[in-house]
Amino acid sequence: MSYPQVAAFDLDYTVWPCFCDTHLNPPFKPVASKNGEVRTLVDSHGYEISFYKDVPRILEDLKAHDVKIVSASRTWAPDIARDLLRGFKVEYNGKIVPLITLFDSLQWGEKSKVIHITLGIKELFGKKADIKDYKSCLFDDETRNRDVERYGVKYVYVKDPEKGTTWEIYQKYLNGN
Ligand SMILES: [Mg+2]
Repeated sequence: MSYPQVAAFDLDYTVWPCFCDTHLNPPFKPVASKNGEVRTLVDSHGYEISFYKDVPRILEDLKAHDVKIVSASRTWAPDIARDLLRGFKVEYNGKIVPLITLFDSLQWGEKSKVIHITLGIKELFGKKADIKDYKSCLFDDETRNRDVERYGVKYVYVKDPEKGTTWEIYQKYLNGN
């Protein structure tokens, strides 16, 4: 298995099954589970949103292998994305933490994924850091973002909007398939 130095994740239909800028209306209320995790939030219209179930396990495994994690999203509603990532709570190293704490760099807004990842790498490794010098990948559901491969970033296609980023997709990527 071969781990990258940087793993970037799109948000909508990669981490959760909706467009957070058009489908959701804050504020959100948590639905707490017995162990204190919050895997579901309810918006002000009663719409329930949960992250894809394998996402925390994947992020935890990446962090256990010293991989830096970048959130790369073109969302028009960074406030809503932040509310969700702060609202979701997951068990990590025996503690309950907001999902947002598992991300090392948040790169959001109307820019290309190449720019998101470039800015993330510069934030994490210094101004002179070059995207081409780091082993990286992008999990993303939109094939137009495959253009990151021109910069040496491995594009990992998240093709099923029902399942999102799964452990299976992640393992295939690590095993070079
Ligand atoms: Mg997406």
